[in-house]
Amino acid sequence: MEPIRYVSTRGAQAPLAFKDAVMTGLARDGGLLIPDRIPDVSAQLDEWQDLDYPELAFEIIRLFTDDLPDARLKELIAAAYRTFAHPDVCPVRKVGHLHILELFHGPTLAFKDVALQFLGRLFEEILEERGGRLNILAATSGDTGSAAICGVRGQERIHIFVMHPHGRVSALQERQMTSVLDANVFNLAVKGSFDDCQLIMKTLFSDLPFKDAHALGTVNSVNWARVLSQIVYYFYAAFRVREETGAAQVQFAVPTGNFGDILAGWYAKQMGLPIRRLILATNENDILARFFNTGVYAKGQVVPTVNPSMDIQVASNFERWLYYKVGQDPKEVARLMTRFALEGRMQIPRDADGRVDLEIVAGASDTQRTLSAIKRYHEKHGYLLDPHSAAGVYVAEQYNELDEPMICLSTAHPAKFPDAIRDATDQDLARHPALDALKKAPTRCETLENNAEAVKAYLAARAR
Ligand SMILES: *Cc1c(COP(=O)(O)O)cnc(C)c1O
Repeated sequence: MEPIRYVSTRGAQAPLAFKDAVMTGLARDGGLLIPDRIPDVSAQLDEWQDLDYPELAFEIIRLFTDDLPDARLKELIAAAYRTFAHPDVCPVRKVGHLHILELFHGPTLAFKDVALQFLGRLFEEILEERGGRLNILAATSGDTGSAAICGVRGQERIHIFVMHPHGRVSALQERQMTSVLDANVFNLAVKGSFDDCQLIMKTLFSDLPFKDAHALGTVNSVNWARVLSQIVYYFYAAFRVREETGAAQVQFAVPTGNFGDILAGWYAKQMGLPIRRLILATNENDILARFFNTGVYAKGQVVPTVNPSMDIQVASNFERWLYYKVGQDPKEVARLMTRFALEGRMQIPRDADGRVDLEIVAGASDTQRTLSAIKRYHEKHGYLLDPHSAAGVYVAEQYNELDEPMICLSTAHPAKFPDAIRDATDQDLARHPALDALKKAPTRCETLENNAEAVKAYLAARAR
């Protein structure tokens, strides 16, 4: 069979091999890179059922890469997941009637490590082979930044520039980033929202002479390698729950910001994993919940919440899903995205029953509901949810009418959000030694104005 190539959702980028897609990040026509087909693995599911996490990751990732020798890929995956503190890498725990998929056992205690421990090593591999250099520009709502920094710190051929919204990430999240003092790490506090940071990133990436001159790359979930490595845990969790319950199908509830994590679940379903449906959860920043209930994708004002990694009103990965939704028509994607850029709004038709989609349903939590979910799970089950995972659990509870087991993705360790845990439980329950150690660590960070020119000038002066 022909190897998979990567094409743009907007149709105007020549097809790329996997490594080139990883280095390119955002397609040169402003679209997102997607595989030119989705492999069907339904015939392999029984064979894969008992693989451990790295073995399963190898089987899935190799389907999408033909330019990495199997032995190297195996080594990269093994090294990435050795950094996780749990022997199962991403364990599944039964809590009440839910199955909690714990994705936070990596070095920065959020699910972003699952992808970024792999991607950091992949960059290194490609740059060593090609003798190149890379300047990573990242925008973070909190967790991507520290996970990305942790994935590439100290690397010879890479400089990483991480923008976070000034004062809008948690104090601990900020420390996790700014306490990394390696010379190749640059933290930028931008005086704006996360969406502003993403817009600056898009602006710099669409300046092609600038992008080429500085070999710009991305670790945000617009990078296909991130979505790809996240597909793995949907399979892993479905296998664990099938083992335990014997159920033929499962459901997943996913706390969502940029639509990257849930998109990986959507790909898993298209590959033949028996997922009955995906339940998308937002917080008050509910553009995606509104969209999946009405068909209207309309920007709102970003409000800061107890789950800051979900404080997003423009979900970059949405464009990948939209591409399939409009029948893989890049012209239609370009038309809708242009309209959205101009008017802050677009619409897609609903089916005869008024539904936007049959595979994804959605709901929103809010601060009070999220905190009360944390409190209830702690009191009833002795289990502490972080505020992102708790938003997912709250929305999952609203969709409890089907019999298929419910797997809730737990995306961060509760100790990353001690204020929310204290507000929910009136106790200081959420501690982690790695985070306690940060309190006294020295930090380095630069504050920049909220405009693309300021970031451009800063980067140009310090690029690798
Ligand atoms: C990034 C993040 C999310 C949202 O994931 P997306 O891929 O942006 O949808 C949810 N929870 C936590 C803890 C995160 O760090």
